[in-house]
Amino acid sequence: MKFLKFLVAAACAVPFAGSAQAADLELWRLDCGSVEVRDLSLFSDAFGYGGTHRTLTDSCYLIRHDKQYMLWDTGLPAALIGSKPDAKAPIVPSLTIDIPSQLAKIGVKPEQIGYIGISHYHFDHVGQAAAFPDAVLLIGKPDFDALKLPPPPFGVEPKLLQPWLSGKSKVEPVSGDHDVFGDGSVVVLKMPGHTPGETSLLLRLAESGPVLLSGDVVHFEEQLANRGVPPFNWDRAQSLASMDRLTSIAKNLGAKIIIQHDENDIAKLPAFPKSAR
Ligand SMILES: [Zn+2]
Repeated sequence: MKFLKFLVAAACAVPFAGSAQAADLELWRLDCGSVEVRDLSLFSDAFGYGGTHRTLTDSCYLIRHDKQYMLWDTGLPAALIGSKPDAKAPIVPSLTIDIPSQLAKIGVKPEQIGYIGISHYHFDHVGQAAAFPDAVLLIGKPDFDALKLPPPPFGVEPKLLQPWLSGKSKVEPVSGDHDVFGDGSVVVLKMPGHTPGETSLLLRLAESGPVLLSGDVVHFEEQLANRGVPPFNWDRAQSLASMDRLTSIAKNLGAKIIIQHDENDIAKLPAFPKSAR
């Protein structure tokens, strides 16, 4: 009986997306830079991808939920614009346009951004967050905790999140999954492995259908097919479990997976300033 009550309560708690009151949801793909990888074997701890190189995209996203705006990831730091890349470095990040300039093209001001969802703490995902200090930061709790501990983990520059680390701006550390607007249309999904607090984002778009923004559960499609785990991931077993969760969700919901660093994947969404609905 107790269990039955639990099931009823749980069913009532699950928001129903697609009802008559469903929110108007819109998604824009933004250009948040690119990362040249000279030797792709850096992304396999099983000696895969040897002898190949690849340009990874650094995409980030604007979401409109009725009149509320949310960014998903904030790309590479704006200081990279106009900088000379180190041609000999194994990984070369570059950026040509910042997020506020792109938002201006569709008439959105930085202060209109109510939420910033961050897939994980690496510098190529939090780079321009500080341009939106009015936004509430949603970030996996284990990642937010790690940002406060010296020394910072690999690929982390805490100063890029200073408004939230200093307590001036509001942060909501996320444990488990998190339904951002309470109607099931935008849900942060727990996907640990790449980092301890890694997350992906599920969007239920009315016309395009469900979309999964991958975070860095993987960096390119082949990694899902042959389970490529980068040696710099935080936990190998959890990385594999999160790949499994991502592909299972996609299968069950018929969702499109958008691997944020893969140019073939981000091409599944319209080019800015066009949007998906
Ligand atoms: Zn990344």
